[in-house]
Amino acid sequence: MCGIVGYIGYREAYPIIIKGLKRLEYRGYDSAGIMLYNGKNLQIAKTKGKVSDLESKSSDIAQSAATIGMGHTRWATHGVPNDINSHPHVSNSGNLVIIHNGIIENYEPLKKELLNRGYTFSSDTDTEVLINLIEEVKKNEKLKLGKAVQVALNQVVGAYAICVFDKENPDEIVVARLGSPLAIGVGENEFFIASDASPFIEYTSNAIYLEDEEMAIVRLHKPLKIRKIKDDSLVDPYIQELQMNLEQIEKGGYDHFMLKEIYEQPNVIKDTYRGRLHANSGIVQMAGVEDNLEKFLHAQRILIVACGTSWHAGLVAEYIIEEFTRIPVEVEYASEFRYRNPIINPNDVVIAISQSGETADTLAAIKLAKEKGAFVFGVCNVVGSSISRETHAGAYTHAGPEIGVASTKAFTTQITVLTMIALRLAKAKGTLSNSDFYRYLQELEVIPEKVHEALESNEKAKEIAAKFKDAPNCLYLGRGYNFPVALEGALKLKEISYIHAEGYPAAEMKHGPIALIDEQMPVVVIAPKQGHYDKVVSNIQEIKSRSGKIIAVVTKGDVQVKELADHVIEIPETSDALSPLITTIPLQLLSYHIAVMRGCNVDQPRNLAKSVTVE
Ligand code: GLU
Repeated sequence: MCGIVGYIGYREAYPIIIKGLKRLEYRGYDSAGIMLYNGKNLQIAKTKGKVSDLESKSSDIAQSAATIGMGHTRWATHGVPNDINSHPHVSNSGNLVIIHNGIIENYEPLKKELLNRGYTFSSDTDTEVLINLIEEVKKNEKLKLGKAVQVALNQVVGAYAICVFDKENPDEIVVARLGSPLAIGVGENEFFIASDASPFIEYTSNAIYLEDEEMAIVRLHKPLKIRKIKDDSLVDPYIQELQMNLEQIEKGGYDHFMLKEIYEQPNVIKDTYRGRLHANSGIVQMAGVEDNLEKFLHAQRILIVACGTSWHAGLVAEYIIEEFTRIPVEVEYASEFRYRNPIINPNDVVIAISQSGETADTLAAIKLAKEKGAFVFGVCNVVGSSISRETHAGAYTHAGPEIGVASTKAFTTQITVLTMIALRLAKAKGTLSNSDFYRYLQELEVIPEKVHEALESNEKAKEIAAKFKDAPNCLYLGRGYNFPVALEGALKLKEISYIHAEGYPAAEMKHGPIALIDEQMPVVVIAPKQGHYDKVVSNIQEIKSRSGKIIAVVTKGDVQVKELADHVIEIPETSDALSPLITTIPLQLLSYHIAVMRGCNVDQPRNLAKSVTVE
């Protein structure tokens, strides 16, 4: 997982690459590096740390007149984050340079072979093995760079998006991808290469997304040729007109991307159902579902595979789909599913959920499900992502770029899509009464306003955060639809504030976690009026009698819980099934403020990366 940027054209490459790397830092940020070629020499700077550290370390080349170069922001997989392991990596001859996103799985035998042939290695990375393998192939078989890259990649097992440069042939960059994203921005007399389009959006809106197992030689004044790495066949380049604008990827006046993204939720939920939901006419439709309706309707069961926050969205969907459609649903961690020889029948429908659409374990789970004959449907945010291409059909969440590492708007838009699927299937199966069906459509349509209202709890969340920011632990409890929200609330707190937190179904408390409760323990209880209110009230009483500190999320106008809880956050009323879209909002805000008050790096929490493209 990392961000890569390349440039070849007529402008100074340094500022373009540095700015591009900053925009890609959400993809990985443990080290950064840059290579420029000024017509005579390679100019390389790299360092452990962020792109800003790289800037300070590369001041001597910042004025370089080089108009070709490439840069990398790393999330280590092989070798600790340090200066030497940072990319770019240079081959033994000093001529070839590489930046790489991914993992070369068979790097050990390749390295052994290269060591036998006299190669030496300064880093612990798999990437340095790859660049020397390319060099060996090039030298041995007397090949041009493009061909040598192709031959070398055919010996490689793993995942990569790479840029390779040869000092002896300095007017081109060779790029290739398998399993990691790579986009080429096509300008006039210039090309940009990047992990996504954000580094070049202000220069060109024409982009080509390389597919898996494709490579290209990016060269000025030459038409771009894309080839299949395996059989050398030519592929017609498909140039897409980008719709993303810069404003979407900037912070928009908020202190952090996470806060901006929390506040975007009313709008993006609307974007998610725009054109798909017409409550008054009883229409809820998504092309991917309509085209495959029979498959969904004949499903013996629906299997949901996902990781992290997407897995929590999957749990919410389990409750909704089963209740609305009576189709049995199981939810699995993709990382477990892929390795446990699961039973998958051709009549199963598999739904894979991933914000980035690049999650390695989810991708592997999809491949396995396809092999076993299941129909696989993707729910992703990133258009053109690997999962969206690997699945038989799917629905985008249309949440826009999510840059904060802790997922917020991705979660609520995923639930929106999954709720729409449940409603569409319920309509076709007749498992909801007509009045319930219309009621849910109407409630879903006004959810953005309710999310907006729930965001008014921001000040209250901040006040509560100030009281609990130093707590070492925190419990989150919810029942039914709000049990997954409790899990998600706890995950948000862990991720960004580093406070140990656990989510539990409220009734499970008596089977263990109640032993943790004392006057030091904050317990966040999700207690909306709809659902199992009375039962949750009993759970709150149990906490209170053990002196736990209760923070309750309640429906506006609540009386009973208010009397018991130390702090309450009010949210607007909605039906039980749709309540996760609302109850999750104050929990996001609470985690955000606690993390800010603890001085944590909210948008880039330690040890985490935005999309986990390694297993
Ligand atoms: N496997 C490479 C490394 O550890 C690249 C990791 C990445 O994608 O950042 O350096």
